[in-house]
Amino acid sequence: MPVPVSQIWTVSSYVLRQKLSGRKQYPLVLMLEPLFRCNLACAGCGKIQYPAHILKKDLTPEECFRAVDECGAPMVSIPGGEPLMHPQIGEIIAGLVARKKYIYLCTNALLLKEKIHLFQPSKYLTFSIHLDGQREEHDLAVCREGGYDIAVDAVKEALRRGFRVTTNTTLFDGANPKSVRAFFDEMMDLGVEGMMLSPGYSYDKAPDQKHFLGRARTRRMFRAILSNRKKRWRFNLSPLFLEFLMGKRTYPCTPWGMPTYNIFGWQKPCYLLQDGYAETFSELLATTEWSNYGTESGNPACANCMVHSGYEASAVNATFSSLAGFLATVKATLFTTYKDDEALKMLEEPQAPVHPLIQIAPTTQSLEEARTT
Ligand code: SF4
Repeated sequence: MPVPVSQIWTVSSYVLRQKLSGRKQYPLVLMLEPLFRCNLACAGCGKIQYPAHILKKDLTPEECFRAVDECGAPMVSIPGGEPLMHPQIGEIIAGLVARKKYIYLCTNALLLKEKIHLFQPSKYLTFSIHLDGQREEHDLAVCREGGYDIAVDAVKEALRRGFRVTTNTTLFDGANPKSVRAFFDEMMDLGVEGMMLSPGYSYDKAPDQKHFLGRARTRRMFRAILSNRKKRWRFNLSPLFLEFLMGKRTYPCTPWGMPTYNIFGWQKPCYLLQDGYAETFSELLATTEWSNYGTESGNPACANCMVHSGYEASAVNATFSSLAGFLATVKATLFTTYKDDEALKMLEEPQAPVHPLIQIAPTTQSLEEARTT
C-alpha cells in the first residue's frame, strides 16, 4: 500500500499554507511521548534512564489531545518508551484519528499481536515497527534474542489485518551497508509500505576533528547504503533528507519542525536534548534560544547530529521553498537510482564482525515487565 494521496495532499497543502503566510518556524511532525518506560533496554537508547517514579508516569489522553491541538502539526509520531505499554493507548489513537492526524505509532512490536485488537485499520494510522537490520543486527541492537522474529511476525499480522505498516531503523557507526541493503529487500518482500531511516545520535560530543570525521563517516555509510538504489525500495522519508544523509546536500537543523511533548512539557530544543521545558508550544517557540543549536552553532551537543528529528523538516521545507527544491524532489522520487561506482566498491570493504549478543533480559521474562519494577 503506498502513502495515501490524501496524506500527501494534507501535508503538502499544510506546508504551502505556512510558506504563504510567511511563517518561518512551523511544526511538521509532533513527537508525542506518552511514557518513557519500555519492555526493552536497547544499547543505543537514551530514553529509559529515568528513575522509577518518572518511568511510572503516563500522559493522559486529554494531555495528548491538548498538545496535538495546540501544536497543529498534520502528523504525529508516537515514540517513547514503548507506546503499547500505555494503558490508554487505544483511546489516544482513536482521539487522534478523530482529529484526522496522520499517526506513526513507533513500536518494537513485542506487544503488537497481543494489543492489536485495540486499533482499527485507518489511513490515519501507521504502525512504525522498530527494526534495526537483519536478524542478527536487530537482536544485537535491541539486546534481545528473538526480537527480530517477533517483530517480523507482528508486521505480517498487522498487514494481514489491513493496517498501514512501515519500518523504522536507526543505524549506528559500523553498520554493515551490504547487510542493510539485504534488510531493505527483506522488508519489501514482507510488503511494508515504506522504510524510515535515521543515523543514531551519539551523546559523546566535543567540537574537534573527531566529530567532523564522525559526520563524514555517517555520510559515507549512507552513500554506500543508498547509492545504486533498487527501484523496489520505498522510503517513508523526504527524498532530499536521504540525499542529506548521503552527503549530497547540507541543511541547517530546524528542531521546531519536529517538536517533542512528554510528561515534562514541551522539550527544549529537540527530541534529543533536554535544555529545559516550556508549558505551551508558543512558549517553546518564543523562549528557546534556537541560534544555540544545530551543527553550525558550535554547540558540541549538535556537532555530530544528522538525525531526522533535526533535519527532515529542513529537507521538506527545502522542497517547498523554491522551484529548484520541488523539481529536485520530483527527480529524486521518480527518476534517480544514484548510480555510483565508488559506493559499489564500499560495499565490498571488509566489515568488523558483529559483536556477540548481550542479553539484557532473559527470554522467559514477561514482555509486559516494565523497567519500573
Ligand atoms: S542538531 Fe538539532 S536535532 Fe541534533 S541535537 Fe542539535 S538541536 Fe537537536
